[in-house]
Amino acid sequence: MKIGVTGATGQLGRLALQSLKLRAPDAALVALARTPDRAADLDVETRALDYTDPSTHAAALAGLDVVVLISSNDFNDRPGQHRAIIAAAQAAGVGRVVYTSILKGPNSPLILAADHAVTEGDLIASGMPYTILRNGWYTENYTASLPAALKAGAVIGSAGAGRLSTATRADFAEAIAVVAAQPGHENRIYELAGDASYTLADLAAELSRTVGRTIPYQDLPPATYADILKSFGLPEGLAAAIADADAHAARGALHDEGGALSGLIGRPTTSLADAVRQAVG
Ligand code: NDP
Repeated sequence: MKIGVTGATGQLGRLALQSLKLRAPDAALVALARTPDRAADLDVETRALDYTDPSTHAAALAGLDVVVLISSNDFNDRPGQHRAIIAAAQAAGVGRVVYTSILKGPNSPLILAADHAVTEGDLIASGMPYTILRNGWYTENYTASLPAALKAGAVIGSAGAGRLSTATRADFAEAIAVVAAQPGHENRIYELAGDASYTLADLAAELSRTVGRTIPYQDLPPATYADILKSFGLPEGLAAAIADADAHAARGALHDEGGALSGLIGRPTTSLADAVRQAVG
């Protein structure tokens, strides 16, 4: 079995290949990346694949049984980038495409979800065998800013009392490895999220426990939160997308109690306490 993973030099793709090495030691793995040299340390075959450069597609996808298509982080026509890879995979005779979508797919109100909904539709319409992993929010989206929260003396966000079912990239990556390497996941859609939901006030309380001083949660209007994220150096579009996600999370958009992620990986998802300790410990 030969499995290729796109975005192999990104955070999730890299972790997915590391998980595949452990979960599927007999599989031949291929790291697909715009800059294959940057994937050399993964110690698997590397091939050049640029979503926006069709001249790279056929050679990159030749001979693969499964392609894991990690959604692009380039918002200039993401659906078009993904569509080109699905078409090229079909032309190359790839057996199945595994796509990383977003929690609740076409029913998600997040700005970011619209592109994923188009790609899910394209993939299903292609007639190729597929597996869609509707990934929830990464825990790291929140824990990465905890050192800044410690400096500022508050955790900030716009999610109100909304419950968040986040999971770490490593947890989502392990699910990729499971569905890519094992049979039985053809034409299935999984809603993936962490086992234990929490609010941003819970996150602030966990941070406070970890560092031994009180760091409160301060809820902000989404526009104010986006402005603050911009002032930290985030590009305007990304700042707006994160604030938008929080605003919808306040109404449950990032909440899921289905347990499909721990079911796939065969262990509980990483706890918030462990993630906070890793971020500031
Ligand atoms: P990263 O930003 O770390 O990785 C994104 C990858 O996409 C990079 O490897 C990048 O390549 C690759 N890429 C971008 N454009 C192209 C292109 N034209 N051709 C080939 N590859 C390309 O993101 P993560 O790994 O953390 O997350 C994976 C995806 O999940 C994101 O791209 C985004 O779609 C989505 N996401 C999910 C979130 C969540 O909370 N669930 C939050 C944010 C994003 P290169 O290394 O060369 O730059």
